[in-house]
Order: sequence, then C-alpha cells, then structure tokens
Amino acid sequence: MIDLRSDTITKPTAGMRKAIAEAMVGDDVYHDDPTVNALEEHVAGILGMQEAMYVPTGTMSNQIAIRVHTQPGDSVVIEALGHIGTHELGGAAHHSGVTLNRITGTRGMFTAEQVIDAVPVPHPSMPSHLYDPHTLICLENTHNLAGGTVWPFEQMREVTDAASALGLATHLDGARVWNASIASGIDVATYGTLFDSVSVCFSKGLGAPIGSALVGSSEFISEARRFKHMFGGGFRQAGLIAAGALYALQNNRDRLIEDQVNARTFAEGVAEISGVTVDLIGVQTNIVNFNVDEPGAVVDACLTDGLAVLVNGPREVRAVFSMEASAPDAVKAIGIVASSVKTVSG
Ligand SMILES: *Cc1c(COP(=O)(O)O)cnc(C)c1O
Repeated sequence: MIDLRSDTITKPTAGMRKAIAEAMVGDDVYHDDPTVNALEEHVAGILGMQEAMYVPTGTMSNQIAIRVHTQPGDSVVIEALGHIGTHELGGAAHHSGVTLNRITGTRGMFTAEQVIDAVPVPHPSMPSHLYDPHTLICLENTHNLAGGTVWPFEQMREVTDAASALGLATHLDGARVWNASIASGIDVATYGTLFDSVSVCFSKGLGAPIGSALVGSSEFISEARRFKHMFGGGFRQAGLIAAGALYALQNNRDRLIEDQVNARTFAEGVAEISGVTVDLIGVQTNIVNFNVDEPGAVVDACLTDGLAVLVNGPREVRAVFSMEASAPDAVKAIGIVASSVKTVSG
C-alpha cells in the first residue's frame, strides 16, 4: 500500500525509537522533564523567539494562541480555508468566544490591502464601540488546504505590517513551516520575526509520533502555560514523546526536500492524465491537490489498486508525500491514478 493520505501517517524510525527509549523524563507539569525542557529551548532557538511550549497537538497550540491573544467577543482575521476555521471544529468560538473574519485568498494567501479592507476603521460618525474588536490575524505557511503553498516573504511582511499597524496581534499557524523554509530557502527564524506567536508541528513531515509547539515571548508563553493546563494539556512524563520531536528536528528537516521532489514528479505525472487537472503553480511543497469529476469513486478505485489518497472537496483529491513514500512510489502512484480515473470514467 502506498499511503499518500497525509504526512501525519509517518512512523518513528529505528533511530527515533532509540532516542525515545533512552529519554530522560520528569513531570512536565512541574517543568521537571529535562527532555521537554531541551526540546522547548531548541525550538525557541530555531524560531529566534524567547520561549516555546510543547503541547500534544497543533490544534491545541493554535487554540491556546487564540485564547491568549483575544477576549470573548473579539474577531480574528483569517484566510477562508485556514485550518483554524475549517478543521478545528469551531474551537475558536468554543474556547475563546471569538468570531472569524474570513478573507478569501488566492492559493491561501491574501494581500495587505485585503487586511486593511477587512478591519473596520472607526470614524467619529461610526465610533469603535459599534464594531467587533479585531485583535488578531492568523496566517498559515505552508497553507494546508490550498495545497501546501508558500507565502512569498515580502507579501507576508506587508500583511503582518498592515495588521500590526491596525493593532492586531499576529499568529502563524506554521504546522508545516519546515516545508515552507525548505521550499523558499528562508530561515524559519526569519519567518519568526514577523509574528507574535508561531505554532509548529513535529508530527507531520518531520516524522515524530506526537506533538507541536507554541512559540513566542516569555510573557506570552507564561500566559499560554496557564491555558495549556486548563485545556487538559498537562502531560507529565512527556519527555518520552518529546525525544521523538527533538530527534525529528535534528535529523529529518533536510530530507523534506525529497518529499517536495516526489510531490512534483507525481503532480506533473497526473497532470498528463486525461480527465485530471492540476494547478501546477500551486504545487510548491509536499502536497498535491488534483481535480477529477468524481473524487469519491476515484479514491475508492485507487484504494483497490493499493494507493490511499483522500477526497478533499467536491472535485478534489489530495495526495501528500512524506518519508513513508519513496520516489518509485510516486511514479507507481501516477499509474494507479491513471488506471483508476479510466475505470471510473468507464
Ligand atoms: C495538521 C495541522 C494543524 C493541527 O495539528 P494536529 O496536531 O493535527 O492537531 C494545524 N494547522 C495546520 C495548517 C495543519 O496542517
């Protein structure tokens, strides 16, 4: 079976399992876990920010960030297909009592002008107490649903500059910021300079079994630690899994380029198939979204032939490359998609 459903399916390698087995642990709730502490220090360093906090999931990381940055009743600016507004189950409303002001972007990205237009500007004739307070903007890099697209750095800076000028805090959902950095050649810490907080995942392409981190100033993280515990994220001897995350950061970042190359091979291959269309410009990292008339039937047919992919929209199928799929797998997968599309279209 070639599994291209997601990069979350990655399993710990032998080296990672060894690091996990040998991890020193303590009670993380008391900050006594040396491996968690080492991971947090390492991640803060990579992001060029003061402090990091290890959490069980990327969703919890984003939700804590929103809770710290906002008050109930506030409005959060986000791209229409952002993970926070599509796959976190209304968590921003539930946990933080905020609404989302969604901007429709292009390939997951929007402009400073769109931010300026989205955030209400009070006037004596229409004072601020008549508007939803806008206090936070969230960007996503790479953008998951848009297909792993990478923000051009200048555009990102213009957006965060515009947001800051409007008094908004800035949060980056950087679940795959590692992939963005590999694709753009821009250091992760350079992305960090644009944001008040960044969330990163270890459990995707990096191949760690569990975990994410929220990164920001010491003051921000100290508040975040309160909500981590409130949200049920005090996870005691977490060093066992933090060891996998630390190992992943130290060993698996550079190899992400292989996933990007394999995704490109696959995208160019399926683009040649009659009945399939691909926005090749949007294939920038390890994710390939391609369009067919009947995605459900195509996904079922692929599965029968040994390829697991996901339905990602009314006409869209999603394939994600990770260390679980090799270069020959990418080529083989093109053939399976071709025969499946042919079978389905009869
Ligand atoms: C996967 C993902 C998350 C959430 O991570 P989980 O660990 O699955 O909760 C958040 N944002 C983006 C962009 C993601 O791709």
